[in-house]
Amino acid sequence: MAGIDIEGLATVYPNGVRAVDGLDLHVADGEFFALLGPSGCGKTTLLRTIAGLEAASEGTVRIDATDVTRTEPGKRGVAMVFQDYALFPHMSVSENITYPLKVRRVAAATRLEVASRTAGELSLDGLLERKPGQLSGGQQQRVALARAIASEGKVLLLDEPLSNLDARLRLEARTFLKKLQRDLGITTVFVTHDQAEALALADRIAVMDSGKLRQLGSPREVFARPANTFVANFIGSTPMNLLPGKVLGDGTVSVAGGSLPATTVSTPADAEVTVGIRPEYLTLSTGDVSGPSLRGEVVVAENLGTQSLVSVDCDGTLIGVTVPEETEPAPGAPVALTAPASRVLLYTQETGEL
Ligand code: ADP
Ligand code: MG
Repeated sequence: MAGIDIEGLATVYPNGVRAVDGLDLHVADGEFFALLGPSGCGKTTLLRTIAGLEAASEGTVRIDATDVTRTEPGKRGVAMVFQDYALFPHMSVSENITYPLKVRRVAAATRLEVASRTAGELSLDGLLERKPGQLSGGQQQRVALARAIASEGKVLLLDEPLSNLDARLRLEARTFLKKLQRDLGITTVFVTHDQAEALALADRIAVMDSGKLRQLGSPREVFARPANTFVANFIGSTPMNLLPGKVLGDGTVSVAGGSLPATTVSTPADAEVTVGIRPEYLTLSTGDVSGPSLRGEVVVAENLGTQSLVSVDCDGTLIGVTVPEETEPAPGAPVALTAPASRVLLYTQETGEL
C-alpha cells in the first residue's frame, strides 16, 4: 500500500498544450481519490503522467515515498484501467487477467490460481474461458479491473471506468467498485467527469479546470462549500443559484429584490458580490416569514423523484429551490424563501473565489 505525492507537476504536449499546469496533490495510503472536471481539463493526462505513460515536463511524482518521475511505467507499481478497457480481443478472460503476470514470467500454475481467485472477487466466475467479445459491457469492465488488481500494483488508476456502461448498470458498477476498493484497501485514483459519481464514491475529490486544481476536499465540503463559482457551477445535481448581490451592514446581503442573512465579517459593507445558495439549502414558505427573505412567485416545478425543483421569480430573477414533492406549490403562488447564514456563500465578483 502506498500514497501518491505530486509536486509542481506540469505535463506539456509537443504541440505546446499545458494539459497539466502546476499541480500539487497528496493521495493518502488506501484512499479512494477522485479527479473530477470537465472534458479536456487534463484528467487523463494527469493519470497517464502518474503511470509514466506521459513524461512530466516539470515537478515530481512520488509513489510510496519513492521518486518515480523518471521511472519507466512497468516499474512504478501502478495498475491502470483505461476508459476503453484495452482488453486483448484474441485472449481469453483468464489470459487477459493474468497478462501482467505473464510479462513478469510468473509460472502458469500460479497464474491460473490468480485468475480464478480474482474472477471470484469480481463476479466473473464461469467466464474465464470466454473472449472479451462474448461479454457484456459490465463484464468487460470487470475484466479490466480484474487485470489491474491481479497485477498487484501499489496504486490503482482508473480512467472513467464506468463511462461506457448504460445508466442502470453504471449505478450497480459504482456500488460494486466502492465495496471492492474498501475490501482491498488499495490506494485508488478515479477519474470522472460525472460529479454525482465523484460525490458518491470518493473519500476526497480534486476538482480540476484547465490543468489546474480548483478545489480539494471531501464530497461534503465541495458540495456544501464550493471554493469558487467554477466548482459551484460544476458540483450538484441541481444548478446552484449564483446571483449578483450587495453586502449590507447588518449581517445580511441584498439580492433579487430582498435580503438573506450571510456571514459578512470578511466582506466590507456595500461590496458587490456573487451570492451562492444551493436549491437544497433554501426553505420555501407559502405563509408569513419573519427576518430576511426573498419574495416571489412560483413559475414552474420539475419532478426530481421524491423532491421537486421549484423555480421562483423574485423581482425578475429566477431562483431554484427544492421541496418535498408533496409540498410542491402551484404555479403563480406567492412564496417566501429563507436560508440560514451558514448556507449563503459570498464570492468576489472579480475572481469568483470565496
Ligand atoms: P480529460 O481527460 O480531462 O478530458 P485530457 O488529459 O485528455 O483531458 O486532455 C487535456 C488537454 O490536452 C486537452 O486540451 C487535449 O486536447 C490535450 N491533449 C490530450 N492528449 C494530447 C496529445 N497526445 N497531444 C496533444 N494534446 C493533447
Ligand atoms: Mg479523459
